[in-house]
Amino acid sequence: MSAVAALRWLAAMGADEAVEDAPRDRLSAPPPAPAPPRRAAPPAPAFSPSLSPGLSIASTDQLVEEARAAAAAAADVAALAEAVAAFDGCALKRTAKSTVFADGSAEADLMLVGEAPGAEEDRRGLPFVGPAGRLLDLMLAAIGRDRESARIANMLFWRPPGNRAPSPEEVALCRPFVDRHIALVRPRVLVCVGGVAAKSLLGRTEGIGRLRGRWHTFAPDGGSEEIAAAALFHPAYLLRQPGHKRQAWQDLLRIRDRLEGEPPAT
Ligand code: URA
Repeated sequence: MSAVAALRWLAAMGADEAVEDAPRDRLSAPPPAPAPPRRAAPPAPAFSPSLSPGLSIASTDQLVEEARAAAAAAADVAALAEAVAAFDGCALKRTAKSTVFADGSAEADLMLVGEAPGAEEDRRGLPFVGPAGRLLDLMLAAIGRDRESARIANMLFWRPPGNRAPSPEEVALCRPFVDRHIALVRPRVLVCVGGVAAKSLLGRTEGIGRLRGRWHTFAPDGGSEEIAAAALFHPAYLLRQPGHKRQAWQDLLRIRDRLEGEPPAT
């Protein structure tokens, strides 16, 4: 093969570019030096939640303990509101716009505790101000009450994204503040609005349909002094299932009677 024919063949094979000035005789080049032995990667440090204060990861139990201490240190409702706002242990706080603590009077004889803020509550920083809240206002008006003569709060202080149901951890993290809130207000009647509040505060596993319609007790701080407690269908549920309004109205009348000093029927 002539040199010209060899070049044509190389070009046809794609070797059409000179990359060095002088040709390199690869057949006579010394073999490349062996690569240095690869060093084994150092073992990963064992996971430790207390590597440094900045890196520490607290467990849910530790955070609940932190919430308990902060709640117990609050001498009044205003201090408790500040303690809740300062608490960073619940991840919902990072996605919520507001901390929704409470509305109404801190001296009220009637306290209602719902589930969690929704979109409008998150925007305005107040509980029960959306569609469910407007029905709750009507329910209160039906027994001669309004939100100024009641205390209104929730089991969670921050809106779960997309209004999903609260997780047991989120409820557990907020619970010390809710308990302290009830203990500080010390209402004559505590109303658990909806299944999440009823199951958690009454320590029961039954659904709201079984918990409503009778009296329960709630002992603030686990003490011996008990508060009369009732469970009520959540107004958001009543908006979807208006057929249950009759039972809700019966429950409201029972609550009104109890507030007016009538002996409990059940
Ligand atoms: N539902 C609740 O349980 N609480 C609110 O504040 C609003 C809607």
